[in-house]
Amino acid sequence: MSSNKIYRLVDSYYKPYSKNYLEKLFYDISSADSNRKSEKIFKKNEDYINGLKSKFKQLVLERNNLAKSKGNDNYFDFIAEWDGVPKQDIINFFAKAGDLSRKLLDELPFDNSKIDWFSSNYNNFNFELQLGKPKYKLPKEVVDFIKKNPSKNKYLKKIKLNPVEDTTFTTDYDYKKGEATINYDKNNSRLHDALSMAHEFGHAIGMVRNYAEGKETSQPKPFPDETRAVKFELEFLAAQKADIRKVAQAGSIYYFVNTLFEEKIYKDPEVDFDEVYANTHNVISPLIKQKSNPLYVLNSFLIEYPCYSTNYSVIYSKLLSQYAFKRNLG
Ligand SMILES: [Zn+2]
Repeated sequence: MSSNKIYRLVDSYYKPYSKNYLEKLFYDISSADSNRKSEKIFKKNEDYINGLKSKFKQLVLERNNLAKSKGNDNYFDFIAEWDGVPKQDIINFFAKAGDLSRKLLDELPFDNSKIDWFSSNYNNFNFELQLGKPKYKLPKEVVDFIKKNPSKNKYLKKIKLNPVEDTTFTTDYDYKKGEATINYDKNNSRLHDALSMAHEFGHAIGMVRNYAEGKETSQPKPFPDETRAVKFELEFLAAQKADIRKVAQAGSIYYFVNTLFEEKIYKDPEVDFDEVYANTHNVISPLIKQKSNPLYVLNSFLIEYPCYSTNYSVIYSKLLSQYAFKRNLG
């Protein structure tokens, strides 16, 4: 069975170092206060990072085999179809990814050419760092926002909040009772975490509302479900200060890069992944001139949720080009 093989490959990817180690290393490299610090941490771990490349490629090949066994050419197309992402929306995303990214970057309240990491290989589009890492009171600030909206507030009593130690926010559903539990990271309170919480509330409210209205609630297709969640995330964002909004909107470029990269490597696994990942960053801004970048191997989202970024890239690019340059920004 192909999927068992994938399971084993993912398992061995996190050996000898765990997923948490890998995630922390990625964060430390891409979020250090200077390029020199990033470089230092990278150099110290270079052998480990290079050692992951062949494991990463094997995963890509095996996932493509799985897609082929299901009648698809490659895993990228397979997941897009499975998740229900409209084909034309994907074409539109690729057509405007570069232009939209440059617009989002132009809107930022600071000069990118003066940001040390911006043009380097350690660019993770985490502009929150430039705002001095603003802190949020969670879950309070998101819950207070919902309480102001009567059409959403009425579903709050069906949603439980569960503090956990995991940087990825998730929602569990009880489809029989029409209830949801949001698992949120109790150790972090960054802008990124506030947005993740608003996003999960978007999922949870959607399901609880469907139940209350007698609609089908079990396992929705990811694309429409994610669209609802991102819409609510952007509603929350629209109520924040302009600088915060602009920084968060530019943060969606992170997903654009994932998608530009994954489309290329799954459709043609014989390309040089390091080179493709570098070029993918170069598409985003003329200030970025990377030649070779192996840091994709440290991005656990690409390991755990391969090609899931397509959902976010399509949704953010669609919604941000609809709203961002007319209403929200300015
Ligand atoms: Zn989601």
